[in-house]
Amino acid sequence: MTDQILTDVDLDDPPTDPPAGCEDPFLWELARRKFELHRRTGAGDCVTCPRWRRCGGSLLARDGLATAMGLKVRESPYWQAFAQIMRSDRERGQPALGPHC
Ligand SMILES: [Zn+2]
Repeated sequence: MTDQILTDVDLDDPPTDPPAGCEDPFLWELARRKFELHRRTGAGDCVTCPRWRRCGGSLLARDGLATAMGLKVRESPYWQAFAQIMRSDRERGQPALGPHC
């Protein structure tokens, strides 16, 4: 079951919209935004992190996308806590993140 989801969704090239089988579309959006921030250039460099530093953002984003798909991975606790904070901000009427964040 779990393996089936992973073969259907490419976490290294995730779709913008939550794919079928996504258990947490809101978390997918958060992780997808992070993925976008740490996209690779043609040369393989992260567009956000300085070149001398290893990019941790894309790995973190990948774990977030996997968590949204219902998988338990290394950074799942981080993402679940983060999504909970963002959800409560949204419920208080604050915009979660600007469209350009
Ligand atoms: Zn990065």
